[in-house]
Amino acid sequence: MTPSTSLGAGEETLRADIVEIGRRMYARGYTASNDGNISVRLGSDRLLMTPKSVCKGFMTPDMMCITDLDGKKLQGDRDPSSEMLMHLEVYRQRPDAQAVVHAHPPTATGFAVAGIPLNRAVLAEVLTTLGSIPIAEYATPSTKELPEAVRKYIRAHDGMLLANHGALTVGADLYAAYYKMETIEHFAHISLVARLLGGENLISRDEVERLQGLRDTYGIKAPAPICATDEVTRDQASCQVVEAPVGVGSRLVPPDNPDPSAPALGAGASSGVSTPTPSAEADGEIRLTYRELQALIEDAIRSLR
Ligand SMILES: [Zn+2]
Repeated sequence: MTPSTSLGAGEETLRADIVEIGRRMYARGYTASNDGNISVRLGSDRLLMTPKSVCKGFMTPDMMCITDLDGKKLQGDRDPSSEMLMHLEVYRQRPDAQAVVHAHPPTATGFAVAGIPLNRAVLAEVLTTLGSIPIAEYATPSTKELPEAVRKYIRAHDGMLLANHGALTVGADLYAAYYKMETIEHFAHISLVARLLGGENLISRDEVERLQGLRDTYGIKAPAPICATDEVTRDQASCQVVEAPVGVGSRLVPPDNPDPSAPALGAGASSGVSTPTPSAEADGEIRLTYRELQALIEDAIRSLR
């Protein structure tokens, strides 16, 4: 147990903030069991960090570890987080970052598992704050691979997905980093619903430029500019690459190629299909909407009776 007399100014508050954020992440289902980790700078040369192998929903302030910026434990009964190397790398690459949050929020992690980055121009608030949310390549958790995967994107992004793993955010303080995690999960949820309903209307490139201008107006600090493009192959190490089409006189551009695998529920759906009309692609693949597939199955069941 850390003697409370040794707590420096602000440290007590930071310990309590980590406990509170851990509780919120667990309550919102961003972590299960002992998943996730949280850290914050403690002065210029130390970090306060969640310990290894504890549930983030049931932490107490005395559980935290203090390490130096090389990861050497300076104080604490427990060992620091198993993802400490990733946190150290983020602080090394981002002198402006005061706090780091890592969790496995299920919808965002679903995108990370499906290999789908959250990089479409869809919500103004997400564009102005996070820009784009790329996916860092898969790396074995808790090894040196993970900091290497994160390094590629962290200079230009305050939040990213980790392939087949989870999400990572940084901020100017603990709550800023946590809120970015909330924004990512909320955005992932909205994106999923929009795709199920037939696809997102995208914000046009001109409008994205206008939103980028709002960052200055509102003093939103971003580590890199937004680069609106059609091809997401551009360098993402120095730029927040966002998919935004040229909108001919329109600020919203409907999806021109709705996801054929999406259930036919909304705007992008073919209407009133009662007879299946499968179409064969050049490669012989047959694509069906959900409704067409359902009709085929119902026909098959009827013929069995
Ligand atoms: Zn993790």
